Amino acid sequence: MKITSFEDLKQAEMVLSFGKQKMTVSVFMIDGLLIDTGPAKMKAKLILLFEQWDMKKVILTHHHEDHTGLAYWLQEIKKVPIYIHELGIKDCENRAKLPFYRKVFWGEREPFQPIELNDMITTDNYNWDVIHTPGHAHDHVALFNQEKGWMFGGDLYIQPTPKSLFAFESVPEIITSLKKVLTYDFETYICSHAGIKIKGRQAIEKKLDYLESIQQEVQSLYNQGMNSNAIRKKLFPKSHPMHYLSFFENSPKHIVNSILE
Ligand SMILES: [Zn+2]
Repeated sequence: MKITSFEDLKQAEMVLSFGKQKMTVSVFMIDGLLIDTGPAKMKAKLILLFEQWDMKKVILTHHHEDHTGLAYWLQEIKKVPIYIHELGIKDCENRAKLPFYRKVFWGEREPFQPIELNDMITTDNYNWDVIHTPGHAHDHVALFNQEKGWMFGGDLYIQPTPKSLFAFESVPEIITSLKKVLTYDFETYICSHAGIKIKGRQAIEKKLDYLESIQQEVQSLYNQGMNSNAIRKKLFPKSHPMHYLSFFENSPKHIVNSILE
């Protein structure tokens, strides 16, 4: 785990591996606010960190296990209030039914009892807009720090040109959410997996352009009479170990299908 500072923001970055697959995930702490809790797999290290960090509240960008794995511990031991978008509350109250590869990769999330997020929150020094940004997850939110002009985007970005998607993701919804965050005045964008991006607006614009062009291509091939399977083979011919590892929960077919739905 690597701890770094950027002005008054602290970032704890963790690299997890499963075979040859590596994934990086970060949690962020600013002004008494912890943004996401990291995965249960990192419990031992995260507890040492959370014992030192003096947080007054926790906001979860969404319910996925790599963001919420220590939430039950923070609730039970640190007794801090934990907030999530209302659509994520049920997911957190119940034991997560995860596919095998996600259990192995991130560890299992214990149930906990989060509180519903409002559209605005405050910390000692900052005002924050809570922006519902579904597409990666139904309960996903981005957090805009008004004073700094920083956008904490959770898993909205991750990478600019994805060649595959998870079954629960949707290209049209991600496009709408990217447009929504671009209505806010930010340059610095803070991603749970890609870290702090100083030219964050550019990164978000790049991803939006990419997804819009994919959407157009898929629709025009479909209008020419191609079915979704043929479109996937034409646009995304390469397979990736992750597709097999996830039993195709992660696959290019979800890009195509979410556009044609
Ligand atoms: Zn996620």
